[in-house]
Formats: sequence, C-alpha cells, structure tokens
Amino acid sequence: MTDLPRPRTLRRGSDFVEAGLGDAATIDKVAERYAVAMTPLLAELGPAVAKQFVPDLRELDTAPEELADPIGDQAHSPVKGIVHRYPDRLLLTPLLHCPVYCRFCFRRERVGGAEKGLSDAELQAALDYIRANHQVWEVILTGGDPLMLPPPRLKTLLAELEAIAHVEIIRIHSRIPIADPERVDAEMVEALKLERATLWIAVHSNHASEFSVPAIAALRRLDGIPLLGQTVLLKDVNDNAEALEALFRAMVKHKIKPYYLHHLDLAPGTGHFRTGIEDGQELMRGLRGKISGVCQPTYVLDIPGGHGKAPIGPTFWQDGQVTDWQGIDHPYRK
Ligand SMILES: *Cc1c(COP(=O)(O)O)cnc(C)c1O
Ligand code: SF4
Repeated sequence: MTDLPRPRTLRRGSDFVEAGLGDAATIDKVAERYAVAMTPLLAELGPAVAKQFVPDLRELDTAPEELADPIGDQAHSPVKGIVHRYPDRLLLTPLLHCPVYCRFCFRRERVGGAEKGLSDAELQAALDYIRANHQVWEVILTGGDPLMLPPPRLKTLLAELEAIAHVEIIRIHSRIPIADPERVDAEMVEALKLERATLWIAVHSNHASEFSVPAIAALRRLDGIPLLGQTVLLKDVNDNAEALEALFRAMVKHKIKPYYLHHLDLAPGTGHFRTGIEDGQELMRGLRGKISGVCQPTYVLDIPGGHGKAPIGPTFWQDGQVTDWQGIDHPYRK
C-alpha cells in the first residue's frame, strides 16, 4: 500500500466553507484572536461536533467574569511547563499546540498562540523539578496535546520520567485518538510502552458521534493501556440526557472509563457554551437511573484561582433522606 497524503487540516475560513461549515469572514475574524483548526475527519461528524470546532462570532464577546487563566495555573507554576497544585501529582506541559482547537478550550489564551512549548533546556529544568520533589507520584502530561510530540521525542520524554524512581504513574491527556486517530500509529504505540511506571491515557470526548470508525480503530491500537474519559458539559452539544447517555455508553463500549464531566471553565468568549450548575446536577441525577455505575463520571468544577477540582454533585443523601435511582426519597438516619 502506498502512503496517501494526509488530508489537510481546516484552518482558514475558505477551508471550512469548502467542507460546508460556517462563514469564511466570521472564521477568519475569530482566527485573528484564537487558534482555529479542525481535522477533515471531524468535519464529517455532524452538528454536535461542528459546534465544538467551527468558530463563532460570540467568541469575541468576553464576559466580565471570564478569565484569561480560568483555573489559576499560573498561581501554581514553580517552573515553566509545570503546574503543581496537589502534593502527589503535577502537570507537565511540553508543548502548547493541539491537532484541533476546541472553541471552549480552558487554556485558549495559551494554546495554539505565539507562545512556544518547552525548549530542551526548559524541559530539563522541569524534569529537575520533578526529580527534586519526591512526593510526586504521578506526572500528568497535558498541554496542548502531548501526543503531538513526534514518537521519538515522546519515547525519550517517557524514558526520562520513568527514570525518576518516585514517579509511578504517567497520565497523558489527549484529544488525538478522537480528533486525529491516524497519528496513533505503530510507532506511537511502541513509544507508549513503559518499562517500569504505569501509563494511563485520558481521552477528551464530548459526543458519541466522535466515535468514528478511524477513532475506534485507534482506541483498539491502544488496547492494554487503561483509558479514562474526560468530557466538558456544553450547551447545545451534550447538555441533554440522551447525548450524555450515548456518550458514556460509547466510552465504556470502547474501554474508556468515564472519569470527569467538567463544568465549563470561565475561559474568555465561551458564554454561549455555558450551562447552569443546577442543569448539570439534574442531568447527572437522571443518569443514575439510566446507565450503569461504570458509565458514571464525576461532575466537577475547577475552582477559579487555582484551588483545584471539586465534585459538585448532585447529592443523594440530605437531612435524613436518601434518594433512589428512580428519584424517590427514603428516610435514612445520620
Ligand atoms: C486537573 C489537575 C490535576 C489532576 O487532577 P485529578 O483530580 O487527579 O484528575 C492535577 N493537577 C492540576 C494542576 C490539575 O489542574
Ligand atoms: S484539545 Fe484540550 S488543550 Fe487542545 S484546544 Fe481542545 S480543550 Fe484546549
């Protein structure tokens, strides 16, 4: 088989219009402010996927409560490329670009812009920080999308992390198996084989229609690596019971354990994606009665200012009443 050229990523207004999505002038205008990219694969998956990637003029409206650094990364960054918020785990961000740019991205002021990823010297300084901090049990590679690293560089980075005796777990957060599954090739799978530490991969997916044939094949190639699902609750994309139920079933079917349902962070220009917390709780309450425990993620909020993630419900026990899966209350003492 000859190698076919990879289909070109949609970046300009004219690319989107050619794919039958959006308005060129709008897209080019938004692209002056925020990074824009969508793979041709995603362009074919219907409106719930298009809404996540096709720029919208409303992105240029920043509400007063929206923040450039919505989850307070900067407050906990001791060295460039590290965010160390909890004692036993930290984020390492080797690069700041992604295969696609989600219109609601919480790091949209940093990813895909002028700021470069880490230089070799900066990466070594970040690794030195991890070496010196013996309580770091888990290193979470995020970004940007760490699987955008060329496989040889990924392999070297994983080897350097594995060489640090106290690092037991390496977790990679990625959109690639869904957004650009061809990148999960034999060379990448080989690079992901660890000697000593344990690798987990958290896959970002927000709608069942993202589970395309190529994405499912890429997930199969990752077989043997424990997979977690990360979802953002998004208005008019997945903020209804049917969409969430189908998504979490698709994840479990393809060996991804739904991990977090994130309440949308206060990133600039994302108001048109925002739901109320009570709407999210109501959806989660409904899911309890519909899908198995394995299919249930935890609904979380990343507290602005850098205070970490908090589960935000719903609660099933309150004031001596416990609620069953059908929504019926029963008395239960403290
Ligand atoms: C989200 C996050 C983590 C990971 O949190 P978990 O609850 O373990 O998934 C770790 N560090 C930072 C800075 C984070 O933002
Ligand atoms: S893949 Fe993640 S980091 Fe990249 S644009 Fe989407 S939300 Fe942001």
